[in-house]
Amino acid sequence: MTLFPELFGPVLQSSLVGKAVEKGLVSFELIQIRDFATDKHRTVDDTPYGGGEGMLLKPDVLYRAWEKAGGKRPAPEKTATILLSPQGEHFTQATARELSTYEHLILVCGHYEGVDERFIELCVDREVSIGDYVLTGGELPALVLIDGITRLVPGVVGNEQSVARDSLEDDLLKYPQYTRPREFQGLGVPEILLSGDHGAIARWRLAESRARTSRKRPDLFKRRG
Ligand code: SAM
Repeated sequence: MTLFPELFGPVLQSSLVGKAVEKGLVSFELIQIRDFATDKHRTVDDTPYGGGEGMLLKPDVLYRAWEKAGGKRPAPEKTATILLSPQGEHFTQATARELSTYEHLILVCGHYEGVDERFIELCVDREVSIGDYVLTGGELPALVLIDGITRLVPGVVGNEQSVARDSLEDDLLKYPQYTRPREFQGLGVPEILLSGDHGAIARWRLAESRARTSRKRPDLFKRRG
């Protein structure tokens, strides 16, 4: 649900997400919130009660758009309505993995000063933030969720092992990786990777993953124990 559906087209049609749509593994419906305004000016926002700056998205307009998106109460199993919000829980790899098992997600993109609290109370199951900064609207955050979740849907990435070994799965960063040429600007490739000894390579990679996680992300390393 968005006031700017045109921002989504290029991402939903390209690269991995576009291929997932083509293969029928995921599908998207863009709901223009403005289509659910009822006055002749197609008003979607209004000033906050009690005063203060900015405009809020109106709960009645949002509610009608939400029903069109398939929103129901009580929420059926494996469905959720997610409001993109700087006040929400942080989006992590674990959240992406959990949400990739859902059948239907309704992503609500706020705009202006935000949304009327009663819409959140009635319709929103989770508020999700992509980080501690404030963006103009929920469209870029929604695209971040769409990309992060879609690549975990079974069948979307050809080699599922490669997704399972991505950085942040198991709270470990990925080990250093190299491809051809064997020498570049005077720099070579670690000898072990050329040895053909798969056991030794696996041990080297795990040790490198642990070392770089402890150096670059000590918070993750401590959490992992
Ligand atoms: N006044 C609101 C507040 O202080 O919480 C911020 C409103 S922001 C300008 C407009 C919309 O952008 C929000 O309703 C939300 O949908 C989206 N947004 C902004 N930053 C975000 C973030 N870090 N993560 C997710 N959504 C965000």
